[in-house]
Amino acid sequence: MVRRMLWRVLALALFAVPGLPAHAAEAYQVSTISSLLAGGYDGTISAHLVDPSELTPFAVVVLLQSQSSMAVAAGQSLEQLEAALDALPYSASRILAARVDGRFQALRIRSEPKQNPPYRSLVEVIKTQQVVHTLDDVQGTLIGFRFPAAASSVNVAGWHFHFLSADKTWGGHVLAMTTGDGVALVEEISDLRISFPAIAPASTASAESIKAVERPAVKPGE
Ligand SMILES: [Zn+2]
Repeated sequence: MVRRMLWRVLALALFAVPGLPAHAAEAYQVSTISSLLAGGYDGTISAHLVDPSELTPFAVVVLLQSQSSMAVAAGQSLEQLEAALDALPYSASRILAARVDGRFQALRIRSEPKQNPPYRSLVEVIKTQQVVHTLDDVQGTLIGFRFPAAASSVNVAGWHFHFLSADKTWGGHVLAMTTGDGVALVEEISDLRISFPAIAPASTASAESIKAVERPAVKPGE
């Protein structure tokens, strides 16, 4: 069922590629958070290996060359994991990419169904159509980026994590979690290359709309 759904219009991806030159600390981004929140969904994808011809409305991709690794202790919340990563000696003014592989005691993930024109704003879509799943004791990978406040017109300031299960059947935007034992790989990113959409909103995304999308209140029973 999940594979038939759009598991997340906001795709984040990290690929571990050993042996690339050290100057490759660049992230590639498709579109902006302002565009996505305003309903710029053309190019949505589902969770599967993508063909080069497929499009996505938003993506951040980096060829991960980890600069350090950190053991992830079991029993940490999303906020505690973020704080542990924040304590690593990297610049808060640059992008930090993180990949956490391991077992997770519990995860609460969110996705949205595929959208058709005319598009509503992402805040409206999430209010009425977000699908929340709770996973228990699952092996998989967290992928995430921490963007600096200076980049808040094009991406989300602070941490943003997505999860993909090891069997590639479950995935989504992470709302909450409890870690099991795992390992985090991190890399500081100095450069960002953005492909701007041809049609974009005239204004930037508001802090309120970003919060409503990133950490929305979940109704009891969901
Ligand atoms: Zn997300």
